[in-house]
Amino acid sequence: MAFDLAITGGKTVSGKRIAALDIFIKDGKIAALRPHAKALPPAHRTIDARGLLILPGVIDAHAHFKLKMGPGKYTADDFTSGSAAAACGGITTFIDYTGQGPGESPLAGLKARVKEAAGRTYTDFSFHCMLTGLKKMKHPAASMAAAVKAGSPTFKMFTTYGARGLMASDAEISTALKAASRLGALVCVHAENGPEVDLLEETYSGLKNIMALPLSHPPRTEIEAVGRVAGLAAAAGGPVYFVHLSTAGAAGIVAAARADGHRVMGETCPQYLALDESLFRRKDGYLYSCCPPIRTKQDSAELWRALKKGLLQVIATDNCTFTSEQKKAWKGDITRLPMGMPGSQTLLPAAYTFGVKSGRITLEKMVELLCENPARIMGLAQKGFIKPGADADLAIINPAASVKADWRSMMHNTDYSPWQGRRLYGTPRYTLLRGEVIAEKGKLTDPKRFTGRFLRRSLPRVI
Ligand SMILES: [Zn+2]
Repeated sequence: MAFDLAITGGKTVSGKRIAALDIFIKDGKIAALRPHAKALPPAHRTIDARGLLILPGVIDAHAHFKLKMGPGKYTADDFTSGSAAAACGGITTFIDYTGQGPGESPLAGLKARVKEAAGRTYTDFSFHCMLTGLKKMKHPAASMAAAVKAGSPTFKMFTTYGARGLMASDAEISTALKAASRLGALVCVHAENGPEVDLLEETYSGLKNIMALPLSHPPRTEIEAVGRVAGLAAAAGGPVYFVHLSTAGAAGIVAAARADGHRVMGETCPQYLALDESLFRRKDGYLYSCCPPIRTKQDSAELWRALKKGLLQVIATDNCTFTSEQKKAWKGDITRLPMGMPGSQTLLPAAYTFGVKSGRITLEKMVELLCENPARIMGLAQKGFIKPGADADLAIINPAASVKADWRSMMHNTDYSPWQGRRLYGTPRYTLLRGEVIAEKGKLTDPKRFTGRFLRRSLPRVI
């Protein structure tokens, strides 16, 4: 038997271990791993990976592509441009969100979203189910069970965005946590104190500049909501996963809840780890707007420490791309500023450059945060590890090579990058999805071939 592909001479990083192994791939799966040897079994193609690091394909646990912003209005990246950027950045699976209205069926939302994405992506994909307007649902637990059965065992709730009908009450969150606990599902929460943010936005609306963003989302708005929801989770026994944590205080609450034995986990993003609020002093500071906003260097340092110690478990993008044109339309009104930044193509490079290269985390830890933990927590058993039987999803990087970040050479459908001009290491030489090279040196192998599939996920694991 000949293997489809051999990747020889490289170092694999998986399962807390760096090893000199050759990888043999057959039918999209990792068929064998063997120590480097001169005599190789036959393979149809060989990639010489000498001097390269072979990582599992990155799983972006938090992405927004083709997100509806209003009638006929969407974010700038659709599933095609977004997954192209992801593939060129070493991501092989992304998890986006359903978009059904408050009180509507998560399962119906899931089906609609799968239809939107199917046949339009280069990477594999899955969806978290939005869980909004719970009070309006006749049988919330049954609605959640139906989505779990269809392969989406994770639910997104908000403690903010009341005006958009997304904000959940404490009672709704408790109900969802209890149902999730019974179902083996997981509730993911965007935690900011919505009513206080609304009030502060009004207070600072007269400023007409971007400082209104950090002033209306001070750290305490996140810290209060994280503390409150962690308390609800403790009472419900319910597993909770906080998305996009931005403050040292919130990381501390997650750490304390975990120390008390509660099933609480947390995610952060490169923008909170390696950008800081000094960017708001720039003339184009509004391009760096996201919710919660980027914070201080001290917050970043604490978030890195929490990642290193395993107190936060995941780095994801919260990719939400807008063009500078879309951002500019805010005209000084903070309530009209689209929140979010492109990040798919730069997730792995940013984690590698500002985490591993800068000595904040080890290479093995980075692989845990980008690949292994998202696979475990989000129920993707066939992904996230380099081991026999797993999908042959790989990101192969040259640890010595670097590029100057430039939006012009990226696949995102926008005209700026928050990382513009910064030197990034760890951009992938090759990205493989189920044994096929889908991207090489920042370019898609075949832009006409949509190689991605919808993934039905199994039950999450609380780690
Ligand atoms: Zn998000």
